[in-house]
Amino acid sequence: MSVKIPRGTQDILPGQSEKWQYIESIAKEVCRRYHYKEIRTPIFEHTELFKRSVGDTTDIVQKEMYTFEDRGERSLTLRPEGTAAVVRSFVENKMFGIPDQPVKLFYTGPMFRYERPQSGRYRQFVQFGVEAIGSEDPAIDAEVIALVMDIYKSAGLKKLNLVINSLGDAESRNAHRAALIAHFEPRIGEFCADCQTRLAQNPLRILDCKKDRDHELMGTAPSILDYLNEESKTYFSKVTGYLDGLGISYTIDPKLVRGLDYYNHTAFEVMSEAEGFGAITTLCGGGRYNGLVQDLGGPDSPGIGFAFSIERFIAAMEAEGIKWPLDNGLDCYIVALGEEAKDRSVALVHQLRTAGLSADRDYQDRKMKAQLKASDRQNARFTAILGEDELAENRITVKDMAAGSQENVPLNELAQYVKTKMEAN
Ligand code: AMP
Repeated sequence: MSVKIPRGTQDILPGQSEKWQYIESIAKEVCRRYHYKEIRTPIFEHTELFKRSVGDTTDIVQKEMYTFEDRGERSLTLRPEGTAAVVRSFVENKMFGIPDQPVKLFYTGPMFRYERPQSGRYRQFVQFGVEAIGSEDPAIDAEVIALVMDIYKSAGLKKLNLVINSLGDAESRNAHRAALIAHFEPRIGEFCADCQTRLAQNPLRILDCKKDRDHELMGTAPSILDYLNEESKTYFSKVTGYLDGLGISYTIDPKLVRGLDYYNHTAFEVMSEAEGFGAITTLCGGGRYNGLVQDLGGPDSPGIGFAFSIERFIAAMEAEGIKWPLDNGLDCYIVALGEEAKDRSVALVHQLRTAGLSADRDYQDRKMKAQLKASDRQNARFTAILGEDELAENRITVKDMAAGSQENVPLNELAQYVKTKMEAN
């Protein structure tokens, strides 16, 4: 029996991988404009990092991590998300000492969560995210939100809903927490076992429960917005005010709490409103995490960031029916007939490639007709045919596949000829 791909993972084959490259290139280009630089961190970290940052009571830490012991008996975990590692690196590399704060970073790479696979949910998925660490200016919250909306817009996505909320500062969260406990405690027996544990540990997370979503107490739960202190209220209205000024529309949803422990103040998600997108519509999640740098051993350095997965980005592009502006064609395919022509085509294809063109040839010793068909299948812009007659004259026949015309050019001018023709188009 052959070995199959693990559940919840996928192979990204040619034809698909170009879409990934396209989205990554847009995201990187937008980051360049907003002045965010790339950071690359390891794919595995000490398990402790995620326990301390993501939070012991979260689904990620309790149920979803790929944790293993290495040969030195250290507990390591394949990263389930990006923020924890970026903040660890910020602390470890003393980036808080850089004169220009916040430090603005982006990352991309695979994340791993042992979740129940379904459409839009994988066990290995690729996130693209940014973090701005070292400023508590509400303008940076607006910048980070504007950045992600800019990425979506640059790719052509339109059917989006930006949802935002404020989780407030520690004082506001504590007041809200007490109100949540008072609300749920009398009837907590009607909730799932997870929610019963959450009540004492982190009652905010009850609002995020997938099982008890429809319980009547969910709809009437106290809203965080009623517990924000003056400072938190001012902060939130600054952020929304900046967004208004930038013409970025949004919906305020007091029930948006986000799954991870480290968030405070601004929390946001971007949802797809495209028809037929599927059950899971969240494209991107982000928020502010003012205590996290300190929790991980650094100074008091407030941060904000977001992450989206490329998988759901591609799904949204397809649900909106956006045409992929991908150029998969080959510039030139060489058809060689006879032993000597085949030998010569080794150098010819190399010359085309060193001239910056994409070029290929036959490697299956096929007849002329089959080689021409291959050239067609590969969408070649030019087909260059080298037979005995051409060889005798040191020339080659070049067919312009789009125009349907052909010309006979000196062999040593092939690359220049194709290049000039391509540039003229
Ligand atoms: P989170 O870190 O859970 O807030 O997720 C941030 C974003 O990552 C989500 O909005 C999704 O776009 C994406 N994401 C999270 N989990 C998965 C998954 N299992 N499969 C694919 N994408 C995911």
